[in-house]
Amino acid sequence: MLLDVRDLKVRFHTLRGIVRAVDGVSFSVNYGEVLGLVGETGSGKTVTGLTIMRLLDENAEIAGGEVIFEGKDLLKLPMSEILKIRGRDISMIFQEPKAALNPVIQVGDQVAEAFLAHESMSKEEARERVLDMFRKVGLPDPERIYRSYPHELSGGMAQRIVISMALALRPKLMIADEPTSALDVTIQAQIMNLFRELIREFNTSVIYITHDLALAAEISDRIAVMYAGRIVEVARTEELFENPLHPYTVGLLRSIPGSKSSGSRLFSMEGEIPSLLNPPPGCLFHPRCPKRMDICDKEVPNLLNVGNDHLVSCFLYGR
Ligand code: SF4
Repeated sequence: MLLDVRDLKVRFHTLRGIVRAVDGVSFSVNYGEVLGLVGETGSGKTVTGLTIMRLLDENAEIAGGEVIFEGKDLLKLPMSEILKIRGRDISMIFQEPKAALNPVIQVGDQVAEAFLAHESMSKEEARERVLDMFRKVGLPDPERIYRSYPHELSGGMAQRIVISMALALRPKLMIADEPTSALDVTIQAQIMNLFRELIREFNTSVIYITHDLALAAEISDRIAVMYAGRIVEVARTEELFENPLHPYTVGLLRSIPGSKSSGSRLFSMEGEIPSLLNPPPGCLFHPRCPKRMDICDKEVPNLLNVGNDHLVSCFLYGR
């Protein structure tokens, strides 16, 4: 197993109180596996990714849990060790590619920096490696792109640069946080195809964070569904689509146009994700759940394996 996240708890201290953004999250990622981490805005998926990278804001507190990467707990390592791991072993790409690039440095030099920071090589060798990466990610005229500044590039090109930077050192794990959602639909499809090809070629494990279950299904071997800071269901992608168990997952699937579960009329889930400043008791989904029972607002269901490596947190399937 490459990554094992165990009972992770992250809180934010805000002026209005403590926000329990991630509340007892556990999941694993195997070598070469793509895990989709799916949930609405505010479900805790991005905070989970940032915690693994140790990139949380100062008002965040890791209140418990472990993040075991190749046998080491990343939450206990000194920052000097984390800086060596970042980029080399684990990289992260974000929704807005231009925000990840320095506006006043040529993009080629920015990618070269990734090589120079972690491997001993001359600037000329780093430059050749960058040009190779630019060819791999399908950038036209790599020499010209090398000398470009971020504002001279389209969103799609900038995301190709960011992907080349994130994959430059062939990391074991990449955390991709909505990498296509800021792009036009046609460019989105191109970037998804490219991304899929490259992670297979580089055998990189991926945590693919998205609010879009259909998009997650295109790329993921397994999917973990998050709701209000907790994981509510995990299964292999085909299994989740064939046999969704948690009422929230069922609702998400019914709202995908053309999905088997959507029927002739598209479903829209009522209600909103609860405030994590003052969350409801029991199962956090109970205010929206069409299958709610008496126990549901009193106790918190555990995440149970119900067979076929299918995990669900719902009293309909046990305690
Ligand atoms: Fe619905 Fe109860 Fe299951 Fe929560 S535990 S999803 S409220 S049935």
